[in-house]
Amino acid sequence: MEADLVGKAEAELDSKKLGRRLVFFPVPLQGHINPVIQLANVFHSKGFSITIIHTEFNSLDQSKYPDFTFHLIPDGLLEHEVSTSDVTVLLAKLNINCANPLRQCLDRLLQDKGEPVACLITDTIWYFTQELADSFNLPRIAFRTTSICSFLAFYSLPIFRKLGYLPKQDSQLEVEVPEFPPLRVKDIPAIKSRDPENVFSLISCMMEKTKAASGLIFNSFEELEQQELTKVGEEFRIPTFAIGPLHKYFPASSSSLMEQDRSAICWLDKQAPKSVIYVSFGSIAEMDETQLSEVAWGIANSLQPFLWVVRPGLVQNSSGLENLLPNGFLEAVNGRGYIVNWAPQQEVLAHPAVGAFWTHSGWNSTLESICEGVPMICSPFFGDQLVNSRFANDVWKIGLRLEEGLKKGEIERAIKRLMDEKESEEIRMRVSSYKEKINACVKEGGSSHQSVQSFIDYILSI
Ligand code: UDP
Repeated sequence: MEADLVGKAEAELDSKKLGRRLVFFPVPLQGHINPVIQLANVFHSKGFSITIIHTEFNSLDQSKYPDFTFHLIPDGLLEHEVSTSDVTVLLAKLNINCANPLRQCLDRLLQDKGEPVACLITDTIWYFTQELADSFNLPRIAFRTTSICSFLAFYSLPIFRKLGYLPKQDSQLEVEVPEFPPLRVKDIPAIKSRDPENVFSLISCMMEKTKAASGLIFNSFEELEQQELTKVGEEFRIPTFAIGPLHKYFPASSSSLMEQDRSAICWLDKQAPKSVIYVSFGSIAEMDETQLSEVAWGIANSLQPFLWVVRPGLVQNSSGLENLLPNGFLEAVNGRGYIVNWAPQQEVLAHPAVGAFWTHSGWNSTLESICEGVPMICSPFFGDQLVNSRFANDVWKIGLRLEEGLKKGEIERAIKRLMDEKESEEIRMRVSSYKEKINACVKEGGSSHQSVQSFIDYILSI
């Protein structure tokens, strides 16, 4: 019976085959890999053959995707360079180091007698791939894995600098930026780097090369970012497609670089409905020991059950969880919580016991939370997270941004407010309404569903 079904599905897919290949080259970071794998799956289900070229750093487990063809290329990173602590330095290096290996790989691929390659789909961060694609006369589609609002804020960095908002001054942080409401100076998407010029140059190369691309895909949806999508269309003047949230089509768990601890789900199974605050700051954010202690006491003092992801590397150079947690914390929480290294996040957010998500406002986390109708507490660390959290708080009104940084008093108040059904009623209603909009937009006739089809028509026409 099962074999019959598999056979039927394969036959259906065969009948859809378009005889064209899409080539992807993901940026090797968790928040970028997940949407690329999801995007590749979407297009595979529509009849394209898929090739993924990936780096040695954070390389993918090819055995998980038997339908895709993979090519591994050297990234030239030295041992001490393999670190996400200064992410712009890492990305700038990769943009240089990968140029030749990718050229050689594409050259071989294009000489192959197999299906013709329709286009190269690469992250906007891979700015070097535009010239490379041009040199092969191959259309390049830029893929932006974060929100459209943050993309526009990055695009505006040179203006922010010209207007004197950058570098940020402590006395100016709360000042509003009238040129980009509702941002305040502190929300401008800065990325800390030992070489701040590096950040500007990376962003400006990224924007310039995106303008030269044959199209731009966003992992977002019109109902959330309509205005921003229109603005991008006006500024970039290339075909633009909002086709997210991509994890609605395919889950992120298969592309997790770390093993997801499923005992988190068993623990949640024993909790009351909507009673648990889920706490996770994604795959790159780092904090110091003082901040970790504030987080811990904020959670403890809220008196709520909690599921907390303390990823190895969350506190740099730390020697294990036992030494990280402040003295007296475990006694204070008295079995009220559960801590894991890495969680099956999508499943956690979909679990009936979860009532709220305290997040760093990474874009995948934000979308995953909205999709499950879970309201957020937002603690941005850097980059797009700063913009996402401001929009979650002020525009979409589905989250509470912690304005004081990581301070136990504000954390405790925010958790209590969000977990109180009456106090958080409006936020919950709004996030539920976005959840419904998402369910509609990925269905036949919905905005994202239609954008997928428009993209396919477009790519087959050029
Ligand atoms: N994630 C996960 N387990 C965790 C924490 C995160 O599987 O314990 C996944 C999460 O579902 C999301 C991704 O890691 O798909 C994080 O991406 P995001 O854009 O939110 O943040 P980043 O890690 O890029 O800062």
